[in-house]
Amino acid sequence: MEIWQIPDTLANKIAAGEVVERPASVVKELIENSIDANSSWIRVEVEEAGLQSIKVVDNGRGMSETDAEKAFLRHATSKITQESDLFRVTTLGFRGEALASIAAVSRLKIKTSQGDGAGTWLSIEGGEISDRSKSDARQGTEIIVDDLFYNTPARLKYMKTIHTELGHITDLLNRLSLSHPGIRFEAVHNGNQLFATAGTGDRLQVISQVYGMSVARKMIPIHRDTLDFSINGYIAKPEVTRASRNYVSTMINGRYIRSMQLSQAIIKGYHTLLTVGRYPVVVLNIDMDPVLVDVNVHPTKLEVRFSKDKELFTAIEGAIRDAFRQISLIPEMEEEQ
Ligand code: ADP
Ligand code: MG
Repeated sequence: MEIWQIPDTLANKIAAGEVVERPASVVKELIENSIDANSSWIRVEVEEAGLQSIKVVDNGRGMSETDAEKAFLRHATSKITQESDLFRVTTLGFRGEALASIAAVSRLKIKTSQGDGAGTWLSIEGGEISDRSKSDARQGTEIIVDDLFYNTPARLKYMKTIHTELGHITDLLNRLSLSHPGIRFEAVHNGNQLFATAGTGDRLQVISQVYGMSVARKMIPIHRDTLDFSINGYIAKPEVTRASRNYVSTMINGRYIRSMQLSQAIIKGYHTLLTVGRYPVVVLNIDMDPVLVDVNVHPTKLEVRFSKDKELFTAIEGAIRDAFRQISLIPEMEEEQ
């Protein structure tokens, strides 16, 4: 047997298998980078549900020429600098593998500038820089990902229909805009506008843009602070239900996450107000000390682990019940007879 160390380009391609499952994963990683770069405006343009092309443009802080090249190296990040940072992650990214992974399985172009009069343009093919030049110096970053999975035919073959892939992208854009009401999002598919948000910071307005005015009108604001958590968001009155859990969006410190247990706690908060098989529309953000949540569970960072999970679920369930009590949908407890 002969052992060899695989080169970085191959290692990136292997890592891409975990990070870049489908076009929507690319959109997620690029937008999260734009958010981490403090953008107040993010525009997404996709062709053929992203299988042909994905473009994300932002007005964030941009990168210098050297950083623009370094950004595509494996495990290259500006977001954590030491081991202990891993336990208090405050940015959406931190693993430093998204750009390297995406670039390994596509033809990518990047234009970036810090607004200091200089701009960088790079072309990267299958993970290798194939061309470089100066670009205009509009502050921000523009990344174009063409021909995703062109060099991983097995993955490409696995892609579903345009309709399904676009569904994943739309779902993701909805959640990202719901988690970041202060950012103006624009999304275009094959030249047609998918949606746009105003970026005023008003979450109810984004709910209205995403789910429609009639749903937004039926939302109740909820707010609860405990020692460890600050719970904020909107829950739909029980008369507004859906046939799937997909309309329950949960965020931790502004990061959209998927958690069966969190949705379960929310649904328990509705108590008997929901009929079996029906689910509510909920948008909930929970702020907590980053020490209390481990986001380093999976490369896609969609799942997290809570160190005070029981306390969290009890607080959420209680916050929802109280909100309904206040509008008299659940009778007061009979403690004070
Ligand atoms: P991570 O987000 O985990 O740090 P990425 O591979 O996604 O890793 O990005 C690598 C680095 O490139 C980031 O840490 C950041 O410094 C830089 N970067 C990526 N996208 C942008 C952007 N849109 N604007 C400014 N900097 C960016
Ligand atoms: Mg990232």
